[in-house]
Amino acid sequence: MLSPSGLPEVPCARCGRRISGLPWGDLCPDCFAERKGRASRLAGRISLAATALMAAYVALRVPTDPMARLYAGIAVLATYIIVRRIATRVAMEYLK
Ligand SMILES: [Zn+2]
Repeated sequence: MLSPSGLPEVPCARCGRRISGLPWGDLCPDCFAERKGRASRLAGRISLAATALMAAYVALRVPTDPMARLYAGIAVLATYIIVRRIATRVAMEYLK
């Protein structure tokens, strides 16, 4: 079964729409965008929770020295960025 472009038409793993040139088991662009949107919302919530925990830890544990506070602030920001990245990756794998 070949499409006019010569690429085999493969059904989307989720909605079953046939897309030419899609790798087997992959999602069509619509489903992919939908999953990406959900993954990024989920990752946003997870990373905010992780950042809140980190901020609470920093507020309790880091001395009130301005330099220590500055580095703690950077660490909190880094936590948000890193957790968000990881959570997006993981969510993209596991959301169906
Ligand atoms: Zn689809």
